[in-house]
Amino acid sequence: MQLVIGFLLAILISVLSYRVGALSKSGALAAILTGGLIFGLGGIPWAALLLTFFISSSLLSRLFKRKKASLGDKFAKGSQRDYGQVFANGGLGALFVMAFYFLPSGSWFWIAYIGCMAAVNADTWATELGVLSSKPPRLITNGKSVDRGTSGGVTLVGYFAIFGGAFLVGLIAAIFTQGIAAYLIFLFAICAGLVGSSFDSLLGAKWQAIYYCPQCQKETESHPLHRCGSPTHKIRGWNWLNNDLVNFLCSLAGAGTAIGLWFLLGH
Ligand SMILES: [Zn+2]
Repeated sequence: MQLVIGFLLAILISVLSYRVGALSKSGALAAILTGGLIFGLGGIPWAALLLTFFISSSLLSRLFKRKKASLGDKFAKGSQRDYGQVFANGGLGALFVMAFYFLPSGSWFWIAYIGCMAAVNADTWATELGVLSSKPPRLITNGKSVDRGTSGGVTLVGYFAIFGGAFLVGLIAAIFTQGIAAYLIFLFAICAGLVGSSFDSLLGAKWQAIYYCPQCQKETESHPLHRCGSPTHKIRGWNWLNNDLVNFLCSLAGAGTAIGLWFLLGH
């Protein structure tokens, strides 16, 4: 019964998001699958974290749309999220909820999920709010100033956003946790957000496939075509390491951080 309600809720949210242009058609289908599994198998605590991420990131991307439009070229995709982006952010969570459902004794799947959602929420907040920085970003690897929107660039505003995004996920997760573990989970979420997002920036600076559009004379994550329509050519990184995979690895790093801390404390 919970699974049916879960999928109905996921269909409702995905169709609404498609209607308002927050998800593409493939993105809506992917969101029904991942959202249905997380709502249906995990119940209210798992659903609460997914909704925290989905609602807060959608609101932020709408709020600063105009501000970002001027530097939109640097981002691989528009604000309409496709299936790659949905699976990159929610795929790992869907795997954890299935493991949790079939192996209910493993409470660490819940911890892993919190770390994963803290990382994707923190990273999304940083992307959305980092553009508000009055100072240009600095590359995470060597601290050199780079153009706004450059992969691997970090700002102080971005790190405040990372903290805020992880803080919110940790707070919601703590509400659903009893006793002293609630405080631990809150701390795990903040660490997971910081580690996951920094890992994302590191991959962006060093190994992610980055392209150049000769028409716009801009660095971009788009390939083979830029949004202006002209072909882009690679300037650095590994071909297979695209933006979606980087986001997925960010969520994996967040989950790993939370589980690592959980086991370090003797659980
Ligand atoms: Zn272009």
